[in-house]
Amino acid sequence: MASPTFIEPDLDFIAQINSGSGLNLKKCYQCATCSVACSISHDDQPFPRKEMIHASWGLKDRLIANPDIWLCYNCGDCSTLCPRDARPGDVLNTLRKMSIGEYSKPAAMHQLFNDSRTLPWLFIIPALIIITMGFVTGLMDLSPGGDRIVFAHFFPVPLIEMIFIPLSLGVTLVFFLGIRRFLKDMQTTYARLGKTGPGPIDFKRFLVTIITQLPAIIKHEQFSTCSENKGRKISHMMVSFSFASLAFVAGAFVFALYVLNSHGPYDQINPVKILANVSGIALIAGSLLLIKERRTNLKQTNGYFDWYLLGLALLLGLTGMLTQMLRLANIPWAAYSMYFIHLLFAFNLVVSLPYTKLAHLIYRIVAIAFYHYAKEEK
Ligand code: SF4
Ligand code: SF4
Repeated sequence: MASPTFIEPDLDFIAQINSGSGLNLKKCYQCATCSVACSISHDDQPFPRKEMIHASWGLKDRLIANPDIWLCYNCGDCSTLCPRDARPGDVLNTLRKMSIGEYSKPAAMHQLFNDSRTLPWLFIIPALIIITMGFVTGLMDLSPGGDRIVFAHFFPVPLIEMIFIPLSLGVTLVFFLGIRRFLKDMQTTYARLGKTGPGPIDFKRFLVTIITQLPAIIKHEQFSTCSENKGRKISHMMVSFSFASLAFVAGAFVFALYVLNSHGPYDQINPVKILANVSGIALIAGSLLLIKERRTNLKQTNGYFDWYLLGLALLLGLTGMLTQMLRLANIPWAAYSMYFIHLLFAFNLVVSLPYTKLAHLIYRIVAIAFYHYAKEEK
């Protein structure tokens, strides 16, 4: 006879999920409708019903470092069909948020970016840092003058580098340490559940798995199987691709400055400038579409975790486009002020990367790759 398995429910864990935007795990009566609705559920893996049981029992150790919760792409089909309004899709979204909080340290930063009461500080702190750096180095010029608006005269590139290079290095380190622990814990969780062997991860094979999974992730293939919120694929792609192309544009301008010795402002017909403008418009439009979809989907729970990222994406796009329009309209005080506000949002974006919903970009890729890596190993 098989020996009994003893479980230790983590009551705090259950309370944390339930406090996430009005969720109530007690509503679930295990009918399995969600598993029938979910396109990634299989006969041998009743997803997300199994996760709902584990969450109701407070089995944190089976969920937080389990790649399965990252397979869900939040289509909402399960929540729409759940007869008890237990919102399994939102429970999984909350679990992913908790997973990010578990691995992106320090915890105080996660708290800072996920509590609406601290929102003003997310702008006061960067403003103080940017102004202090500007004055201490003497590089910031509040009245640049000249017959045309040049942002590098107000806030020179070396000052931007002094602020953003250390920030980017810090964020990379946070991700590196978090992902290293996440991988180790996923391996332990899967080994305990008998889904993989107990040995260490073969990193070469794991990297190959990441590369082979990337095309499907980039193409948003899973989003196509969604029946309830079909439009989300387009809006999600618009936002993700604009972030990627704006990062490319920033890199191209750095290359132009240091390698080609070409300074801005650039012509509107410059191909990189055209890409920047198209990406800025796509970022604004995609964010607005995602906000509209969230507001009209009554079966989806919307928390600060979700709104923060959408608000940041929208305001980043808007302040970027407004900065350029005010420059073209030749209104120096307004253009320089808007540029400063845009810098605050850019600062916020970089620092918040490992702590907000944006981190799902990295954690999801690693988790999906690990899921496939473990499947191959078996
Ligand atoms: S979450 Fe809803 S659909 Fe899924 S098992 Fe529970 S009650 Fe049924
Ligand atoms: S939200 Fe969609 S992908 Fe996620 S569990 Fe529900 S049905 Fe499956």
